[in-house]
Amino acid sequence: MEKGKIGVTTENIFPIIKKFLYSDHEIFLRELVSNATDAIQKLKALSSAGDFKGELGELRVQVTLDPKKKTLTVSDNGIGMSAEEIDKYLNQIAFSSANEFLDKYKDQASGLIGQFGLGFYSAFMVSDKVEVISRSYHENVPAVKWICDGSPEYSIEEAKREERGTDVILHIDKESKEFLEESRIENMLKKYCSFLPVQVQFGNEKEWKDGKMVDTGKPKIINNTQPAWTRKPADLKDEDYASFYRELYPMGEEPLFHIHLNVDYPFKLTGILYFPKIRNNFEIQKNKIQLYCNQVFVTDSVEGIVPDFLTLLHGVIDSPDIPLNVSRSYLQSDSNVRKISGHITKKVADRLADIFKKDRETFEKKWDDLKLFIEYGMITEEKFFEKISKITLYKNTAGKYFTLEEYDKIIKENQTDKDKSLVHLYTTDPVAQHTYVAKAAEKGYDVLVLDGQLDTHLINTLESKEPSSRFVRVDSDVIEKLIRKDESHVSKLAQAQADDLATVFRTQVADTDKARFNVRAENLDENDLPMVITQSEFMRRMKDMAQFGGGYSFYGEMPDSFDLVLNTNHPLVISLAGDLDKEHADELKKNSAGIEKTKVEIEFMEKEQGKKKPEEIPSVEKDDLERLKGELKQLEEKRKNLLGGFGNDHQAVRQLIDLAMLANNMLKGEALSAFVKRSISLL
Ligand code: ADP
Repeated sequence: MEKGKIGVTTENIFPIIKKFLYSDHEIFLRELVSNATDAIQKLKALSSAGDFKGELGELRVQVTLDPKKKTLTVSDNGIGMSAEEIDKYLNQIAFSSANEFLDKYKDQASGLIGQFGLGFYSAFMVSDKVEVISRSYHENVPAVKWICDGSPEYSIEEAKREERGTDVILHIDKESKEFLEESRIENMLKKYCSFLPVQVQFGNEKEWKDGKMVDTGKPKIINNTQPAWTRKPADLKDEDYASFYRELYPMGEEPLFHIHLNVDYPFKLTGILYFPKIRNNFEIQKNKIQLYCNQVFVTDSVEGIVPDFLTLLHGVIDSPDIPLNVSRSYLQSDSNVRKISGHITKKVADRLADIFKKDRETFEKKWDDLKLFIEYGMITEEKFFEKISKITLYKNTAGKYFTLEEYDKIIKENQTDKDKSLVHLYTTDPVAQHTYVAKAAEKGYDVLVLDGQLDTHLINTLESKEPSSRFVRVDSDVIEKLIRKDESHVSKLAQAQADDLATVFRTQVADTDKARFNVRAENLDENDLPMVITQSEFMRRMKDMAQFGGGYSFYGEMPDSFDLVLNTNHPLVISLAGDLDKEHADELKKNSAGIEKTKVEIEFMEKEQGKKKPEEIPSVEKDDLERLKGELKQLEEKRKNLLGGFGNDHQAVRQLIDLAMLANNMLKGEALSAFVKRSISLL
């Protein structure tokens, strides 16, 4: 037996390895099985090159547990190692790279280190002793056994092993007992090794027989050595893609489409991505994209590797060119990674464009499930927007789908306003906003349904790119003003009458914490409704955006503000004006004369006093002005009370307000009960 010391600078590296890799101990198994796989792949390569002439036999990695001896063994029948090779690979190269790694990353957070492969030495994260028994594929080279107990000392001696290959035997330490549990190891193998190119066996299949589990004698193979993404697209049918999806996500809902990625240059990348159905919410994506490196699972958190919106997709990406042994922030700035991101984005857009072109019907059918994903991409990735905006669909209230280009052609004639701006009307809820949608239809306008979570964001983006076109919700103004054209109605009421009536109505609505009301009189068509409620497009959109955070939260705090628009040409409103005139004409006339006179006096005095310096104005004059201002306030108050009294006395006022509220889904609780009662009494 030969003893030696591994060439390291750090006196005892193992405690450090243990400490630093704390967060991700389980990767040791991935590393050892990968090494075993490599050893087999190398042998296969030698064989096909004619450099190995022996029998390959059944090439397989075997993982075995021996709970009694407290060992976990990874065996392979690959190329094996001679004593010299063990010395070279395990004592010198592997150890020095482990050492170098620790030197470099000692100060970094341990979370990050989970992403690093430490190779063979990660075995010491879970073992207090590691034995390697190996026999080289070269004939007449004796088998050797290498033992290391976690100090830099190792021993190497001749051993017994008849077959070529390597056993790595881990003596699991006290803190790592979990790795002696069968289910734990099986889960880890499934996670990391499900798609390795070489068969991985973990014990034998078992089955229920006579009330207990019995060994069937059939090897339990953990992996599918030829997963769909490694095969040629031409050899695969839709069903193969569907079944691979189920292999990846047994619980997943059937996806909409798939894309098979296959790139050789300037980087190597293969994979299959699936478009899931995303109806509402970016629910936490349980079926994440999995990242592989030569069929070895690396991670399923691909943030930073692919653009954010693509993380909504499912599937597999496999690339040996994504540098895995680095931190995330490095990944994001890596030029290969950026190229890969760009490439995937382009492929996704191309695939969608292809379906749009070849099978518009399917595209439309699946649109509602795709929309959120596409809009997210359009809003966050300029490049994606450019590629996809031409095939993005918009649905109108009749349930028809259009591209924006197609749609604009249809509405151009009727929905261009006097400033040549093309107005796209939309509803966010065709049922709740039905009155407004119906009004628009009467005018011959078309209305889009924009009820998606990101629609407000999308129309902001569209408007910023195309300033001559606008999106306006159907209830954001009265129909005449939604699309302003040069036709205006003459008012049948005098301005003062209209103002008084607005005040009458204003006295009958109460603001709440969540809603503020403003009443304004407008000269609308006499066939329009007597009162309509509108909500400014700007404020509403700002509030919508506030839900997503960002710079808009200020708007989120504000109450909703609504306009009650009184149609001064509607017969009911005109008749109310008539009643007001009949009952209060004299008082109102007297009051307005008083107000006028007082205003003139105030104006005169202010002008006079303005000519003097404040200290030159005699205090009598100052008092006079104050008194006049007080009188004005009183007169105005009086008018308001008078109008309020009129409002109280005339049930039609409240009735018209409530009808408008009702049409807007805003009449609730007590107000609703009062409305019902009043309606009955009016009948
Ligand atoms: P890496 O795999 O990144 O090269 P490792 O520390 O995991 O680094 O392994 C060092 C070297 O040891 C490998 O490159 C390989 O030559 C050799 N080796 C490790 N495990 C085996 C094995 N099961 N069979 C043959 N050679 C092995």
